[in-house]
Amino acid sequence: MHSIECDTVVLGVLDYADADKIVTLFTLENGKVKGLARNAKKSRKRFGGALEPFARLRLQLTLKEGLSTLNGADVINVFPHIRADLSKIANAAYACELVEQLVGEGEQNPRLFRLLTAYLEHLNLTDHAPSDRRFFEANLLKVLGYQPELARCASCDQDLANMPQLRFSPSFAGILCSSCGRTGRPVSPETLSLLIRSLTTGRFGLVHFSPDGLAEAGAILDAAIACHLTRPLKSLNFMEQVSC
Ligand SMILES: [Zn+2]
Repeated sequence: MHSIECDTVVLGVLDYADADKIVTLFTLENGKVKGLARNAKKSRKRFGGALEPFARLRLQLTLKEGLSTLNGADVINVFPHIRADLSKIANAAYACELVEQLVGEGEQNPRLFRLLTAYLEHLNLTDHAPSDRRFFEANLLKVLGYQPELARCASCDQDLANMPQLRFSPSFAGILCSSCGRTGRPVSPETLSLLIRSLTTGRFGLVHFSPDGLAEAGAILDAAIACHLTRPLKSLNFMEQVSC
């Protein structure tokens, strides 16, 4: 079996036995891969301390059924400015945990890889902004084919454009028009148009939700994500603790 090179983001790291690490990776070329890094805790020669959560690496590995073997790593970016800021760490960990849970092993998804690396680069180089998390989530859902319906009523299929009163219904997992939406959280037309814009601009930092808009968009996106999760996200607790 020969060693291949992959462009990789480290999604998670677990210590294993005395000296090894089990690492969950999201690779551009081979999707999600779990790998064993032998002696990674003791030998800095092969991995150089690179096996850290959300680090971006050029990784040498031998692909195998089950656990692949990590042979070496060159750092592309460890995102030092994320690591110096708790709220950025929380957001990066959350993004990685979402990808880890929502992507099956071996499923190649170059668009998702680009989205995740763009988010990490943006978090690293700019001040933390809560809108970016929602931008990431909206696009994550889109890339995975789970995009919530934002243009038409989830009950009667009417066009939602120019409707003054909209409501989000978790049971419909969508937005309801003025006639169908008797209960549920009100959603302003501004929030809806910013969510739609999030899916069309393609660049972090261009969409800014107001505090009310963040809460409305958050309710829609959290519900859309929650129905695809198989277990609670550990990083959400951390994110709440550092309140971002
Ligand atoms: Zn309707």
